[in-house]
Formats: sequence, structure tokens, C-alpha cells
Amino acid sequence: MEYAARFAAGRTTRKGSAEETQVGYSALVGVLREVTGVTQEELSKSYLKHGDLSESVAEFIGRRREATLFDGEEDPLTILDVASTFERMTEAQGKGSTATKRELVKSLLHRGEGELEAKYIVKILSKEMRIGLVEGLVEEAVAQAFGGDAGRETVKEAYLMLGDIGLLAREAKCGRLANVRIEPMRPTNFMLAEPMASAEEISAYFEGRELFAEYKYDGVRAQVHKLGGEVKIFSRRLEEMTRSFPEVVDAASRIPHDVVLDGEIVAFREGEGPLSFQLIQRRLRRADVEESKRIAPIRYFCFDMLYLDGSPTHRESFRARRALLWGVLKGTSLQRADSRTVRTAGEIDAFFRESRSLGYEGLVLKDPESPYTPGRRGRYWAKLKEELDTLDVVMVAAEFGHGKRAGKISDYTFAVRDGDGLKVIGKAYSGLTDKEIDEMMVRIKRLTVGEAGFRMAVRPEIVLEVAFDSIQKSERHDSGYALRFPRIKRVRDDKQAGDIDTLERVREIYEGQKVKADAA
Ligand code: ATP
Repeated sequence: MEYAARFAAGRTTRKGSAEETQVGYSALVGVLREVTGVTQEELSKSYLKHGDLSESVAEFIGRRREATLFDGEEDPLTILDVASTFERMTEAQGKGSTATKRELVKSLLHRGEGELEAKYIVKILSKEMRIGLVEGLVEEAVAQAFGGDAGRETVKEAYLMLGDIGLLAREAKCGRLANVRIEPMRPTNFMLAEPMASAEEISAYFEGRELFAEYKYDGVRAQVHKLGGEVKIFSRRLEEMTRSFPEVVDAASRIPHDVVLDGEIVAFREGEGPLSFQLIQRRLRRADVEESKRIAPIRYFCFDMLYLDGSPTHRESFRARRALLWGVLKGTSLQRADSRTVRTAGEIDAFFRESRSLGYEGLVLKDPESPYTPGRRGRYWAKLKEELDTLDVVMVAAEFGHGKRAGKISDYTFAVRDGDGLKVIGKAYSGLTDKEIDEMMVRIKRLTVGEAGFRMAVRPEIVLEVAFDSIQKSERHDSGYALRFPRIKRVRDDKQAGDIDTLERVREIYEGQKVKADAA
């Protein structure tokens, strides 16, 4: 059940596991050619037609050639066989692993029955299914199948807490949804904040109540789990990133408790303050621990605690959680988030300006009486930034630039989410440094799925945060809107296509502009 749900959501491994199957496109193409004897030309043609490798698999798998079968390979493929094969792919590391993985894919394609099994195996391995909102659909299916009296809300809450669709299905089937708890070493979804436009709006929203205001640090959100002698760090996407931050591992391992902490890792130099967000991103891409340390010094600013010595704490009030957290951090080199109690719009505004002058992004304001609600945005947390109008979008195409950027892939077309699909909203030419453009070129080449002249269709995986002056209605893109003066603010490797902004949000900003323009 656990595996079936995970596969239906397009995943090969449990969320939070450090490793993935990592089978590249070229390996899949190579195996498909070997198994079916299809030519490169036929495959390219088919690929351009479908834009999805798994559809090409379905088209050609009928030509499967006789294979020499090994013991047991003539048996029909079961879900457990697929799971154990994926596991072996994940375990294959280092020298010779590419060949091992190819052999494993080959055995699956040989054993899969009819075109559908082969198609879906490739769909999962190529991560093609993760683009839409399949996880939501599987969650819905779990709720219908096993939710029973527990109801939709209980299923949702359990899922947000468990973080993994396979675990959700297993717990639901065993009737254990009501007992789901936050546990160390299993990442849970992060609590999120509602964007608000001004100090006045925030103060009115919370009806003038006392709030805990914290700087909005510009780094990566990090959940630190410590159990006995072991420490793991998880990202906002619930992926493990322990290796990138050895200093945090070291400091956390000295805490004399088992804990789950929430906070932000920031590039930070003592005496100087916060450094550029890009430095953290570079550390995330570096596998080598020592080299990673040399890129930039960091600090982990902790602001919440979800678990302490055998007991989940997320249902306690933020006031109580924070008192416990401050106690736990005493005597460690981990940092408390800078915090102040505020009440009025004037107090919020003053602290906001202080935060900006120190080089932070703004403020996050939190209701001291609120529980920690994994994966939920709003109600208890509000964020205030200088620039409200940015959108998280995903790159869907890229082109070579002109002039100074000739010869470089530097023009990016990007889209927002619309239901299960993507709708193009604009194109940006500027915002990245030359070095970032070079790095981006390497990534784009790896993700290119078809070329038409100078234009490359890119698999929608690279999330960009774009700033702009306004949104206009436009026939130019299929979203029906276009951004005026878009510029890339940063690459958001901490987000995936499922996290980008929606067409609905674009409409909201557009309508909001109209209201402002009418009022002016
Ligand atoms: P953004 O694009 O603004 O970083 P987001 O979609 O990643 O937003 P939100 O919850 O909407 O997430 O905004 C809060 C984000 O700000 C957190 O995800 C976290 O990375 C960061 N952050 C920085 N400082 C804090 C803080 N003191 N408390 C909570 N989050 C903080």
C-alpha cells in the first residue's frame, strides 16, 4: 500500500530520504533503444510529438526484443519487485553505478506487462509525474478509500505532518490516522506565513493583539532533527540537506536533548551581518563538506521547536514552545531568532525598518497563542516584505541572448500554475550575474526536452522568483497576462514546480492593482 501510493504520486523513494534513484534521461533513452531497437531518429520524432518520454515508451515498447531472462524474471512484475528494484537503483553509488542502474531499468522494461507498465515505470523514473498535482489526487484517493469517519480534515492534517504520501496511505489503511505524531528523523511540512501589504493591515488582522515579531532572514528554511547521537537537516521540500551544513550538525549534536527545531540558515559573518542569499545556494550545490564550509560562514537562527524528548510540542502555544526552545538553546552555539513583542502598527513599522537597515528581508509576525500548524499558510503567521509583488514561477523554455549575452542561454520563458497545468506569464532577460547564467546554462542543457531553432523547451523544474512593476492583460501568453518589466530576483532551488504561484494569484494581484489605481 505504502509503495503503491508513492508510485501513484510519481515518487520512487520516501520524502526525506537522502538518496534518489537518479536515473538520467539519457540512460532511459539508451535503455529504451536497446530494449526495442528503435532508432534515434524515430525516438526524436516521437519525443517531439509527445513531449514526454514515457509516451514514446508506450509507442515503442511493443517492439521489445527477446531478452535473456535471469532467474525469476519471467514472473509477472509486482509492486514489491518494482520497489526493491528502485531501492537497488538508489543504493547503486559511485563507480559502475550508471551501468548497474541501466541494467535494472532494462529488467523492469522487459518484465513490465503491456505498454502501460513500462510507460509508468519510465514516467516515475523520469519524474514526469511530479510536475502536476498528483500528490493531491492520491491524497484524495486515500481519504476516499480509508478516511472513513476520520474525515477529509484528519487525512489532510496527518498528511501534512507525515510529509510522505506512502506513509499516509499506510497509516490510513491501518486506521492510525488519529495517532499520527511528529517524530524525530521524519521531516514534517513547514508552517508558512501569509503575505500582507502593510503594518496597518497586520495590526488590523490580529485586532491589535500582542504579537511576536521576528526578522525575516534571507536564507534557507531548515528543520533540524536530533535523536541520540544523530542529526539530520531537512529543507522546505523535505529533502535532506545535512551534508551542506556540517557546522549546524556539529552544534546540534551537542544539545543534551532529542529535538526537532525549525529555523533559517543564513550566510552570516560575525561583525558584518547577513551575506548574500546566493552563497547559501552555492553551499547547497556543493557535495564536498570542506569546500562547502569555505564558501561562506553560516548561522542557524532557530525560531520554533516541534518535539522535545519523546513528546511532540507543536500543539502547545508558540509562547510555551519558545520558552522551551530558549532553554534548549542555552549553552549551544545555535542562535535564537531576534524577536520583539509588538502590538501597534507603529511598533511593527519601526521594527520592520530596523530589520531592513540590518540587511534582512522584513518581518514575520506570529501569534503567541497559536499552535504550530505543519504545511499551513496564514492565520497565525504574517510576513511583511518591502516588495510584495514577486511571483514564484517555473522556467518552461529558454533562448540564446543577444548583444553582450550572445552565445549564452540567457532569455527565460516562465509559467505559473493553473490547476494541473502550467500557463506562460512572461519572459525575463536580466537579473542573474554572468556566473549564474553560466551555471544556469548547464542546468538548462540537462533539462532540455526539445529544440525548435534557438528555442529550447525546458522540463519545468527550475523555480525562479521574479519581480515586476505590474501585471497587464495580454494575448501574448496563454495565461492571458504578462508581467511588465520582469526581472529575476533569484533562483529558488528550495522550491519545486508544485510550490509556484498560481494563475489565481496573478489575477488577485491584477485586480489589486486596479483597486489601487482606482483609489489613486
Ligand atoms: P518567501 O518567498 O517570502 O521566502 P516562502 O513561500 O518560502 O516565502 P513563507 O512562509 O510564505 O515561505 O514566508 C516565510 C519564509 O521566510 C519561510 O519559509 C522562511 O524560509 C523565511 N523566514 C525567515 N525568517 C523567518 C522567521 N523568523 N520565521 C519564519 N520564517 C522565516
